[in-house]
Amino acid sequence: MQFNKLRLTGFKSFVDPTDLVITDGLTGVVGPNGCGKSNLLEALRWVMGETRAKAMRGGGMEDVIFAGAATRPARNYAEVCLTIDNSERLAPTGFNDSDQLEVVRRITRDAGSAYKANSKDTRARDVQMLFADASTGAHSPALVRQGQISELINAKPKNRRKVLEDAAGIGGLYQRRHEAELKLKGAETNLLRVDDVVEQLA
Ligand code: ATP
Repeated sequence: MQFNKLRLTGFKSFVDPTDLVITDGLTGVVGPNGCGKSNLLEALRWVMGETRAKAMRGGGMEDVIFAGAATRPARNYAEVCLTIDNSERLAPTGFNDSDQLEVVRRITRDAGSAYKANSKDTRARDVQMLFADASTGAHSPALVRQGQISELINAKPKNRRKVLEDAAGIGGLYQRRHEAELKLKGAETNLLRVDDVVEQLA
């Protein structure tokens, strides 16, 4: 899955619409302290469905909205748009109707987050699965934040295995297994209830 462009509007320090063009190969972001390097990486995780405000270095998800500066008032919403090359039609069904896929997440104060894929309303879960199946996503090992390499070197084997599994693209399978287990549990509970009813009627 080739990402082509990230557009941030009102996201953290990026108050005006800002485009980051992503070309083939490894992309590194360099710049002086506080210029917004980590904010860019967070925007990428966020549009792919990050749900933990802490991973965005905030107390609540609305903290990603531009909070205002001496010369600029705060914004009411933040939006991140990720443009993906889908010319090889690798996106799953439902996302696969054009050569380019645009995933947009917008958060509005007091109204929460909403997602769109190629202008159509989409569920958060479907966006998360789209990226998990493509071996990427909010927790992708392909997104390397500051200090992460030394963390990986010092990590316990179990945690290192998780990184390899995510890179192999089986993260989506774990999610599906978890959902299947929950459904199975629900079905077992329903069966017990049916047994009770049958017993009462006998
Ligand atoms: P460093 O190299 O020091 O880690 P960096 O380039 O990674 O810095 P970031 O941490 O991405 O920089 O950006 C920090 C800047 O973003 C700070 O100036 C901070 O005030 C600003 N910022 C963070 N959240 C918001 C927000 N909601 N509204 C406005 N500005 C914000």
